[in-house]
Amino acid sequence: MGAGKKQAGAGLARSPDQAGPADSVGVAWEYAPAPESRDIVTIAPEYGLFISGEFRPAIAGGTFATLNPATGEKLAAVAEAGPKDVELAVAAARAAYEDVWGPMPGSERAKYLFRIARVLQERAREFAVLETLDNGKPIRESRDVDIPLAAAHFFYYAGWADKLEHAGFGPAPRPLGVAGQVIPWNFPLLMAAWKLAPALAAGNTCVLKPAETTPLTALLLAEVCQQAGLPAGVVNVLTGAGATGAALVEQAGVDKIAFTGSTDVGKQIASAAAGTGKKLTLELGGKAANIVFDDAPVEQAIEGIVNGIFFNQGHVCCAGSRLLVQESVADAVVDRLKRRLATLRLGDPMDKNTDIGAINSAEQLDKITELTAAGESDGAERWSPPCRLPDRGFWFPPTVFTGVSQSHRIAREEIFGPVLSVLTFRTPEEAVAKANNTPYGLSAGIWTDKGSRILWLAQRMRAGVVWANTYNRFDPASPFGGYQESGYGREGGRHGLAAYLDV
Ligand code: NDP
Repeated sequence: MGAGKKQAGAGLARSPDQAGPADSVGVAWEYAPAPESRDIVTIAPEYGLFISGEFRPAIAGGTFATLNPATGEKLAAVAEAGPKDVELAVAAARAAYEDVWGPMPGSERAKYLFRIARVLQERAREFAVLETLDNGKPIRESRDVDIPLAAAHFFYYAGWADKLEHAGFGPAPRPLGVAGQVIPWNFPLLMAAWKLAPALAAGNTCVLKPAETTPLTALLLAEVCQQAGLPAGVVNVLTGAGATGAALVEQAGVDKIAFTGSTDVGKQIASAAAGTGKKLTLELGGKAANIVFDDAPVEQAIEGIVNGIFFNQGHVCCAGSRLLVQESVADAVVDRLKRRLATLRLGDPMDKNTDIGAINSAEQLDKITELTAAGESDGAERWSPPCRLPDRGFWFPPTVFTGVSQSHRIAREEIFGPVLSVLTFRTPEEAVAKANNTPYGLSAGIWTDKGSRILWLAQRMRAGVVWANTYNRFDPASPFGGYQESGYGREGGRHGLAAYLDV
C-alpha cells in the first residue's frame, strides 16, 4: 500500500515457495505465538466528544460500547452525539474557520499538519495496537499499512498547504468552509487522515464522524491535534451511530460533505444534500474484477489475488472480489491459490504472525454469512482451507467460490468479507465485458505479461483505479475514487484538493 517499500497485505504469510524443507515432506510449520503487547495503549473506560479543542460528554448523556471484535470484550463506553452536539461542533468549526484557520497563511497551516504527521509517526505503535484492538485487523497490517499511510497523507497534504495557487485551480483557490466528514470502520485512522489532511491543507475546518464500531483511533487522533497545538475547533470529532452522521449531513452550517461507506447510505446522503448547495463527494462500495491472463506471472498473480481479497479480511471497498481468470489456466490458478490459502494463519489479530483477523462486527459477519449461503444456493461451489475459528469474537474463514456465474448474488453484490468469487473468460473482449458488468466502478486489476494488453484493457475498464501486475497499492499522491454506484469525486493527490476548494 505504497508507504515505504511495503505493499499493502504483502505480509500475508509466506508463499509455499518460501517454505522450508519440512513442507516438502508434508509437515506443516508451526509458529510460536508472537503477540504484540497492548501495554503501550491506555484505554479509558469512557470517552467524550471532541468539540472546540476539548473532550466533553454528550449533552443528552448518551453512550454506546465499542468492542474488541476478536473477543467480544467491551473496550470502552463512548459518547453518542445528538443533534445539539452536532450544532455545537459545527458552530465551533465555523468560528475556527472564520477567526483562525481560514485567515491563516498556508505556510502556517502546513506547520500544524507536519506536526500531526510527526506525532503520528512517534506514536505509531500505540495507534497500531489501538486500531487492531478496536477493529480486529491483524497488527501487522495496522502497523505496516494503516498507520504509516495515515502519517504519509498528513505529510503529503502539509506540502500542498502553501502551494495551492500552483495546484492548477487558478491563482487564489479558496476553501469551502466547514467540512462534515463521515467515515467507515474498515480503515478507521486512515480514512480519518484521507478526510482531514486535504480539508485542513486547503483551509477548511472539520467535523468528523467515525464509525460506531471503531471510534477509538479517531479520538486518539483528536488527542494528537491537542498535542500538536491545533487551534480549538479546527478539528472536531463526534462519535455516534448513523443518526449522528445523518444529523451532521443535515446541519445547515456544513458547507461540504465527504462520505465513505455503503452505496445505500451514500444515496441517502446525496438526496439529503440535494438542493442545499453543499458540496458532496462520495466514496462508496465496489465489486472489482481482478483479471488474470494465461501469460501472467503466476506466482505474482497468486500473491496479488490473495492481497486483493484477503487483505483486511476483505473489508476493502476496492477489494478484488471477482477473480476473472482465463479459462485455459483456470484450474491451475485455482489449485495454486488453494494451496496458498492453506498457508494463511487466521486468529489473534494481536499476534504478529496473523494474516486473517476478526470480522469487524456481528452485523457484518451476518451479512457475509447470508451472502455466502446465497452463493451455495445459487449453485456455486464453496471451498475454505481447513482452519479452526476462535471460540469468541467474530470470525469467517477465507472462502473461494468456483463455478460462479454473473447472475449469482456473490458475483454482483459487495460481500465486504474474505470471500472470492471465481469466474472465467476466453478472450480479452469477454474479460472487459464481464469486468464492467457491475453497477460499481471503483477498481480493477490486470495480470499479464504484455504491456500493450495492459494499456488496451485499462482504457476499457469502467473503474477509477486500475492496477497492473499488482493490487491494493495506495499512495497519498495518487487520486482514488469511483464511477457509477461507487460514488463521485476523488481523494488523494492534487485531485483530492479540488474536493475542498471552491473550484
Ligand atoms: P455505512 O454506510 O452504514 O456506514 C458508514 C458511515 O456512515 C458510518 O460512520 C455510519 O455510522 C454512517 N452512517 C450510517 N447511516 C448514516 C446516515 N443515514 N447518514 C449519515 N451517516 C450514516 O456502512 P456500514 O458500516 O453499515 O457497512 C455496510 C456495508 O457498507 C458494508 O458491508 C460494505 O458493503 C459497505 N461499506 C463500504 C465501505 C467503503 O469503503 N466503500 C466502507 C464500509 C462499508 P455507523 O457506524 O454508526 O453505522
